[in-house]
Amino acid sequence: MVITSDERYDVLVVGGGPGGSTVATLLARRGERVLLIEKDHHPRFHIGESLLPMNMPLFEQLGVADEIARIGIPKYGAEFVSPWHDKPSHLEFAQAWDKSLSSAYEVRRSEFDHVLWKHAAATGAQVIDGWRITGVEFPAEGGVVARARAEDGREQQFAAKFLVDASGRDTLLANKLGTKVSNKQHHTAAIYGHFTGARRLPGKAVGNISLFWFDHGWFWFIPLLDGTTSVGAVCHADFMKTRKTDVTTFLKDVIAMSPALSDRLRDAELIGPATATGNYSYKSDRISGPGYLMVGDAYGFIDPVFSSGVFIAMQSGFLAADAVTACLHKTADEAALALRRYEADVNRAMERFSWFIYRVNRPAIRALFMNNGNPLRLRESVMSLLAGDVFRPSPIHARLGLFKGLYYLKSLAAKAERLLARNTARPLARSGKA
Ligand SMILES: Cc1cc2nc3c(=O)[nH]c(=O)nc-3n(C[C@H](O)[C@H](O)[C@H](O)COP(=O)(O)OP(=O)(O)OC[C@H]3O[C@@H](n4cnc5c(N)ncnc54)[C@H](O)[C@@H]3O)c2cc1C
Repeated sequence: MVITSDERYDVLVVGGGPGGSTVATLLARRGERVLLIEKDHHPRFHIGESLLPMNMPLFEQLGVADEIARIGIPKYGAEFVSPWHDKPSHLEFAQAWDKSLSSAYEVRRSEFDHVLWKHAAATGAQVIDGWRITGVEFPAEGGVVARARAEDGREQQFAAKFLVDASGRDTLLANKLGTKVSNKQHHTAAIYGHFTGARRLPGKAVGNISLFWFDHGWFWFIPLLDGTTSVGAVCHADFMKTRKTDVTTFLKDVIAMSPALSDRLRDAELIGPATATGNYSYKSDRISGPGYLMVGDAYGFIDPVFSSGVFIAMQSGFLAADAVTACLHKTADEAALALRRYEADVNRAMERFSWFIYRVNRPAIRALFMNNGNPLRLRESVMSLLAGDVFRPSPIHARLGLFKGLYYLKSLAAKAERLLARNTARPLARSGKA
């Protein structure tokens, strides 16, 4: 039997990850009746442990800064290690264009997401965990009716004026609407695990993230506060398909392909089995429609290389709260404008990250991270990008545009050089002089 809840909520938020808990907190704070539903139970495991400096003002605004400081290890920058360069490169957020973006945290997501979830409840959102939304309908008269199932099989219907889909990689609405498109440009997948006993960077850099390139992609090395280190490989999906062993053995074999990372894990032990995440880059064709919008991974996910997922989900949560408020309280025209603005802001931020993410394994982009110069203040601009400065206007975007122009020119010149070399080699070979 399906029980129908008597209460009609203003907003139903599906998914208690960083995106869902953020938007639920902000809307509850504005006096909306918010229901936040999570299929799992906090604290629960989630991958995505490295945060960005631009997360910090969001913690302040939400009112969770002190709690996050208690569970996180400070991250002041990133180490890049490349087998094609003599020595590692250490970049600090303090070198960013905006000098206030000087640090972030690495966190255990089980703890981090739990803090945000509890805060949403304390702010006035009604929170229910252990219930999965199994279907949603948008009646002609407006609003949304969602069907939920508990772990013991009980079913219940919830009605609300507006739906926020923050269901993460489950992409509840994009699946229902058939709008999910996998990214043709970027076919990567990940394999990861937690280690004890990994050798960390010394001193203040102890919490910094390290990135190790290798022939098939790159590894992350994320130190957590309790001494555990999260290590994962992100590779082309075709390489992942070469796996003949179990996931844990494969992770160890892949780590062995990077002498530098292997050295850091020489005395380390993998805790529990490794996990693999399949081909994972996608985006929905649509971010909103009558009575709904999508936040965070429910809309799209690019790649973890710049640790951008949690920040994009939370910042989108802030922007989504404004769009939802407009939908609930303003005229239809104003609501439509707010949704268009939301879409444009989120897409622009994702595109700013994507250009660099798609090229992170190319030599020219590697060189940008491995070399120490700061021509045209490019280093400062790149550090601001890595800090997450992608939503607001900033002079860094013009600099990064210039870098992209130079990148294309260099690529063209390299192509022309290769063609020229091939054309001059042929007649020489024919004349027997080569
Ligand atoms: C391999 C890998 C490494 C990553 N590393 C990083 C990193 O270092 N830093 C970073 O910032 N990001 C990283 N990310 C990305 C990051 O994990 C996500 O972008 C982030 O968690 C998105 O937050 P969200 O709130 O949108 O979704 P989620 O955090 O996934 O939350 C969605 C929630 O919705 C719940 N849910 C789903 N369906 C339903 C339903 N039908 N009913 C009720 N509840 C439901 C889920 O249980 C979940 O709790 C990584 C991602 C991957 C795949």
